[in-house]
Amino acid sequence: MTKKRSPGEIERMRKDTPNVTRQLNRIYERDGGICQLCGLPCSREDASRDHIKELRLCTKEEARSDDNVVLAHKKCNEERSAALRMAELVEERLEKLRNKYLRVELNRLS
Ligand SMILES: [Zn+2]
Repeated sequence: MTKKRSPGEIERMRKDTPNVTRQLNRIYERDGGICQLCGLPCSREDASRDHIKELRLCTKEEARSDDNVVLAHKKCNEERSAALRMAELVEERLEKLRNKYLRVELNRLS
C-alpha cells in the first residue's frame, strides 16, 4: 500500500519531469494531437499531460515516464482529476462507514 502523499508532494512530482515542455511535445506527436480522454483534436496551446496512473499512487519513475502520460485537453484533464478526487473522498467515507459498522457488529457479538 502506497503511503498517502500531501498535495505539496504531488505538485512537486508533477514538476519533477526533467523537461515538461519537451515531454508534452513528445506525447503531442505520439498521440497525434488527439485528446486521449475525449477523442477530439487538441490544439498545442490547449494541450496538457494527463497521468494515467494518478501521481499520488506513482513511484518517481512512473511519475516521469512518457508511458504514464497521455495528451489531454486542459479541461478534460481537470474534469478527470476532479472526478478522481471525488471518487477518493467517497472511498474514504465508505471505509469509515465500513469500520464503524464493523465495530458495531463486533460489540454486538461480544
Ligand atoms: Zn478532451
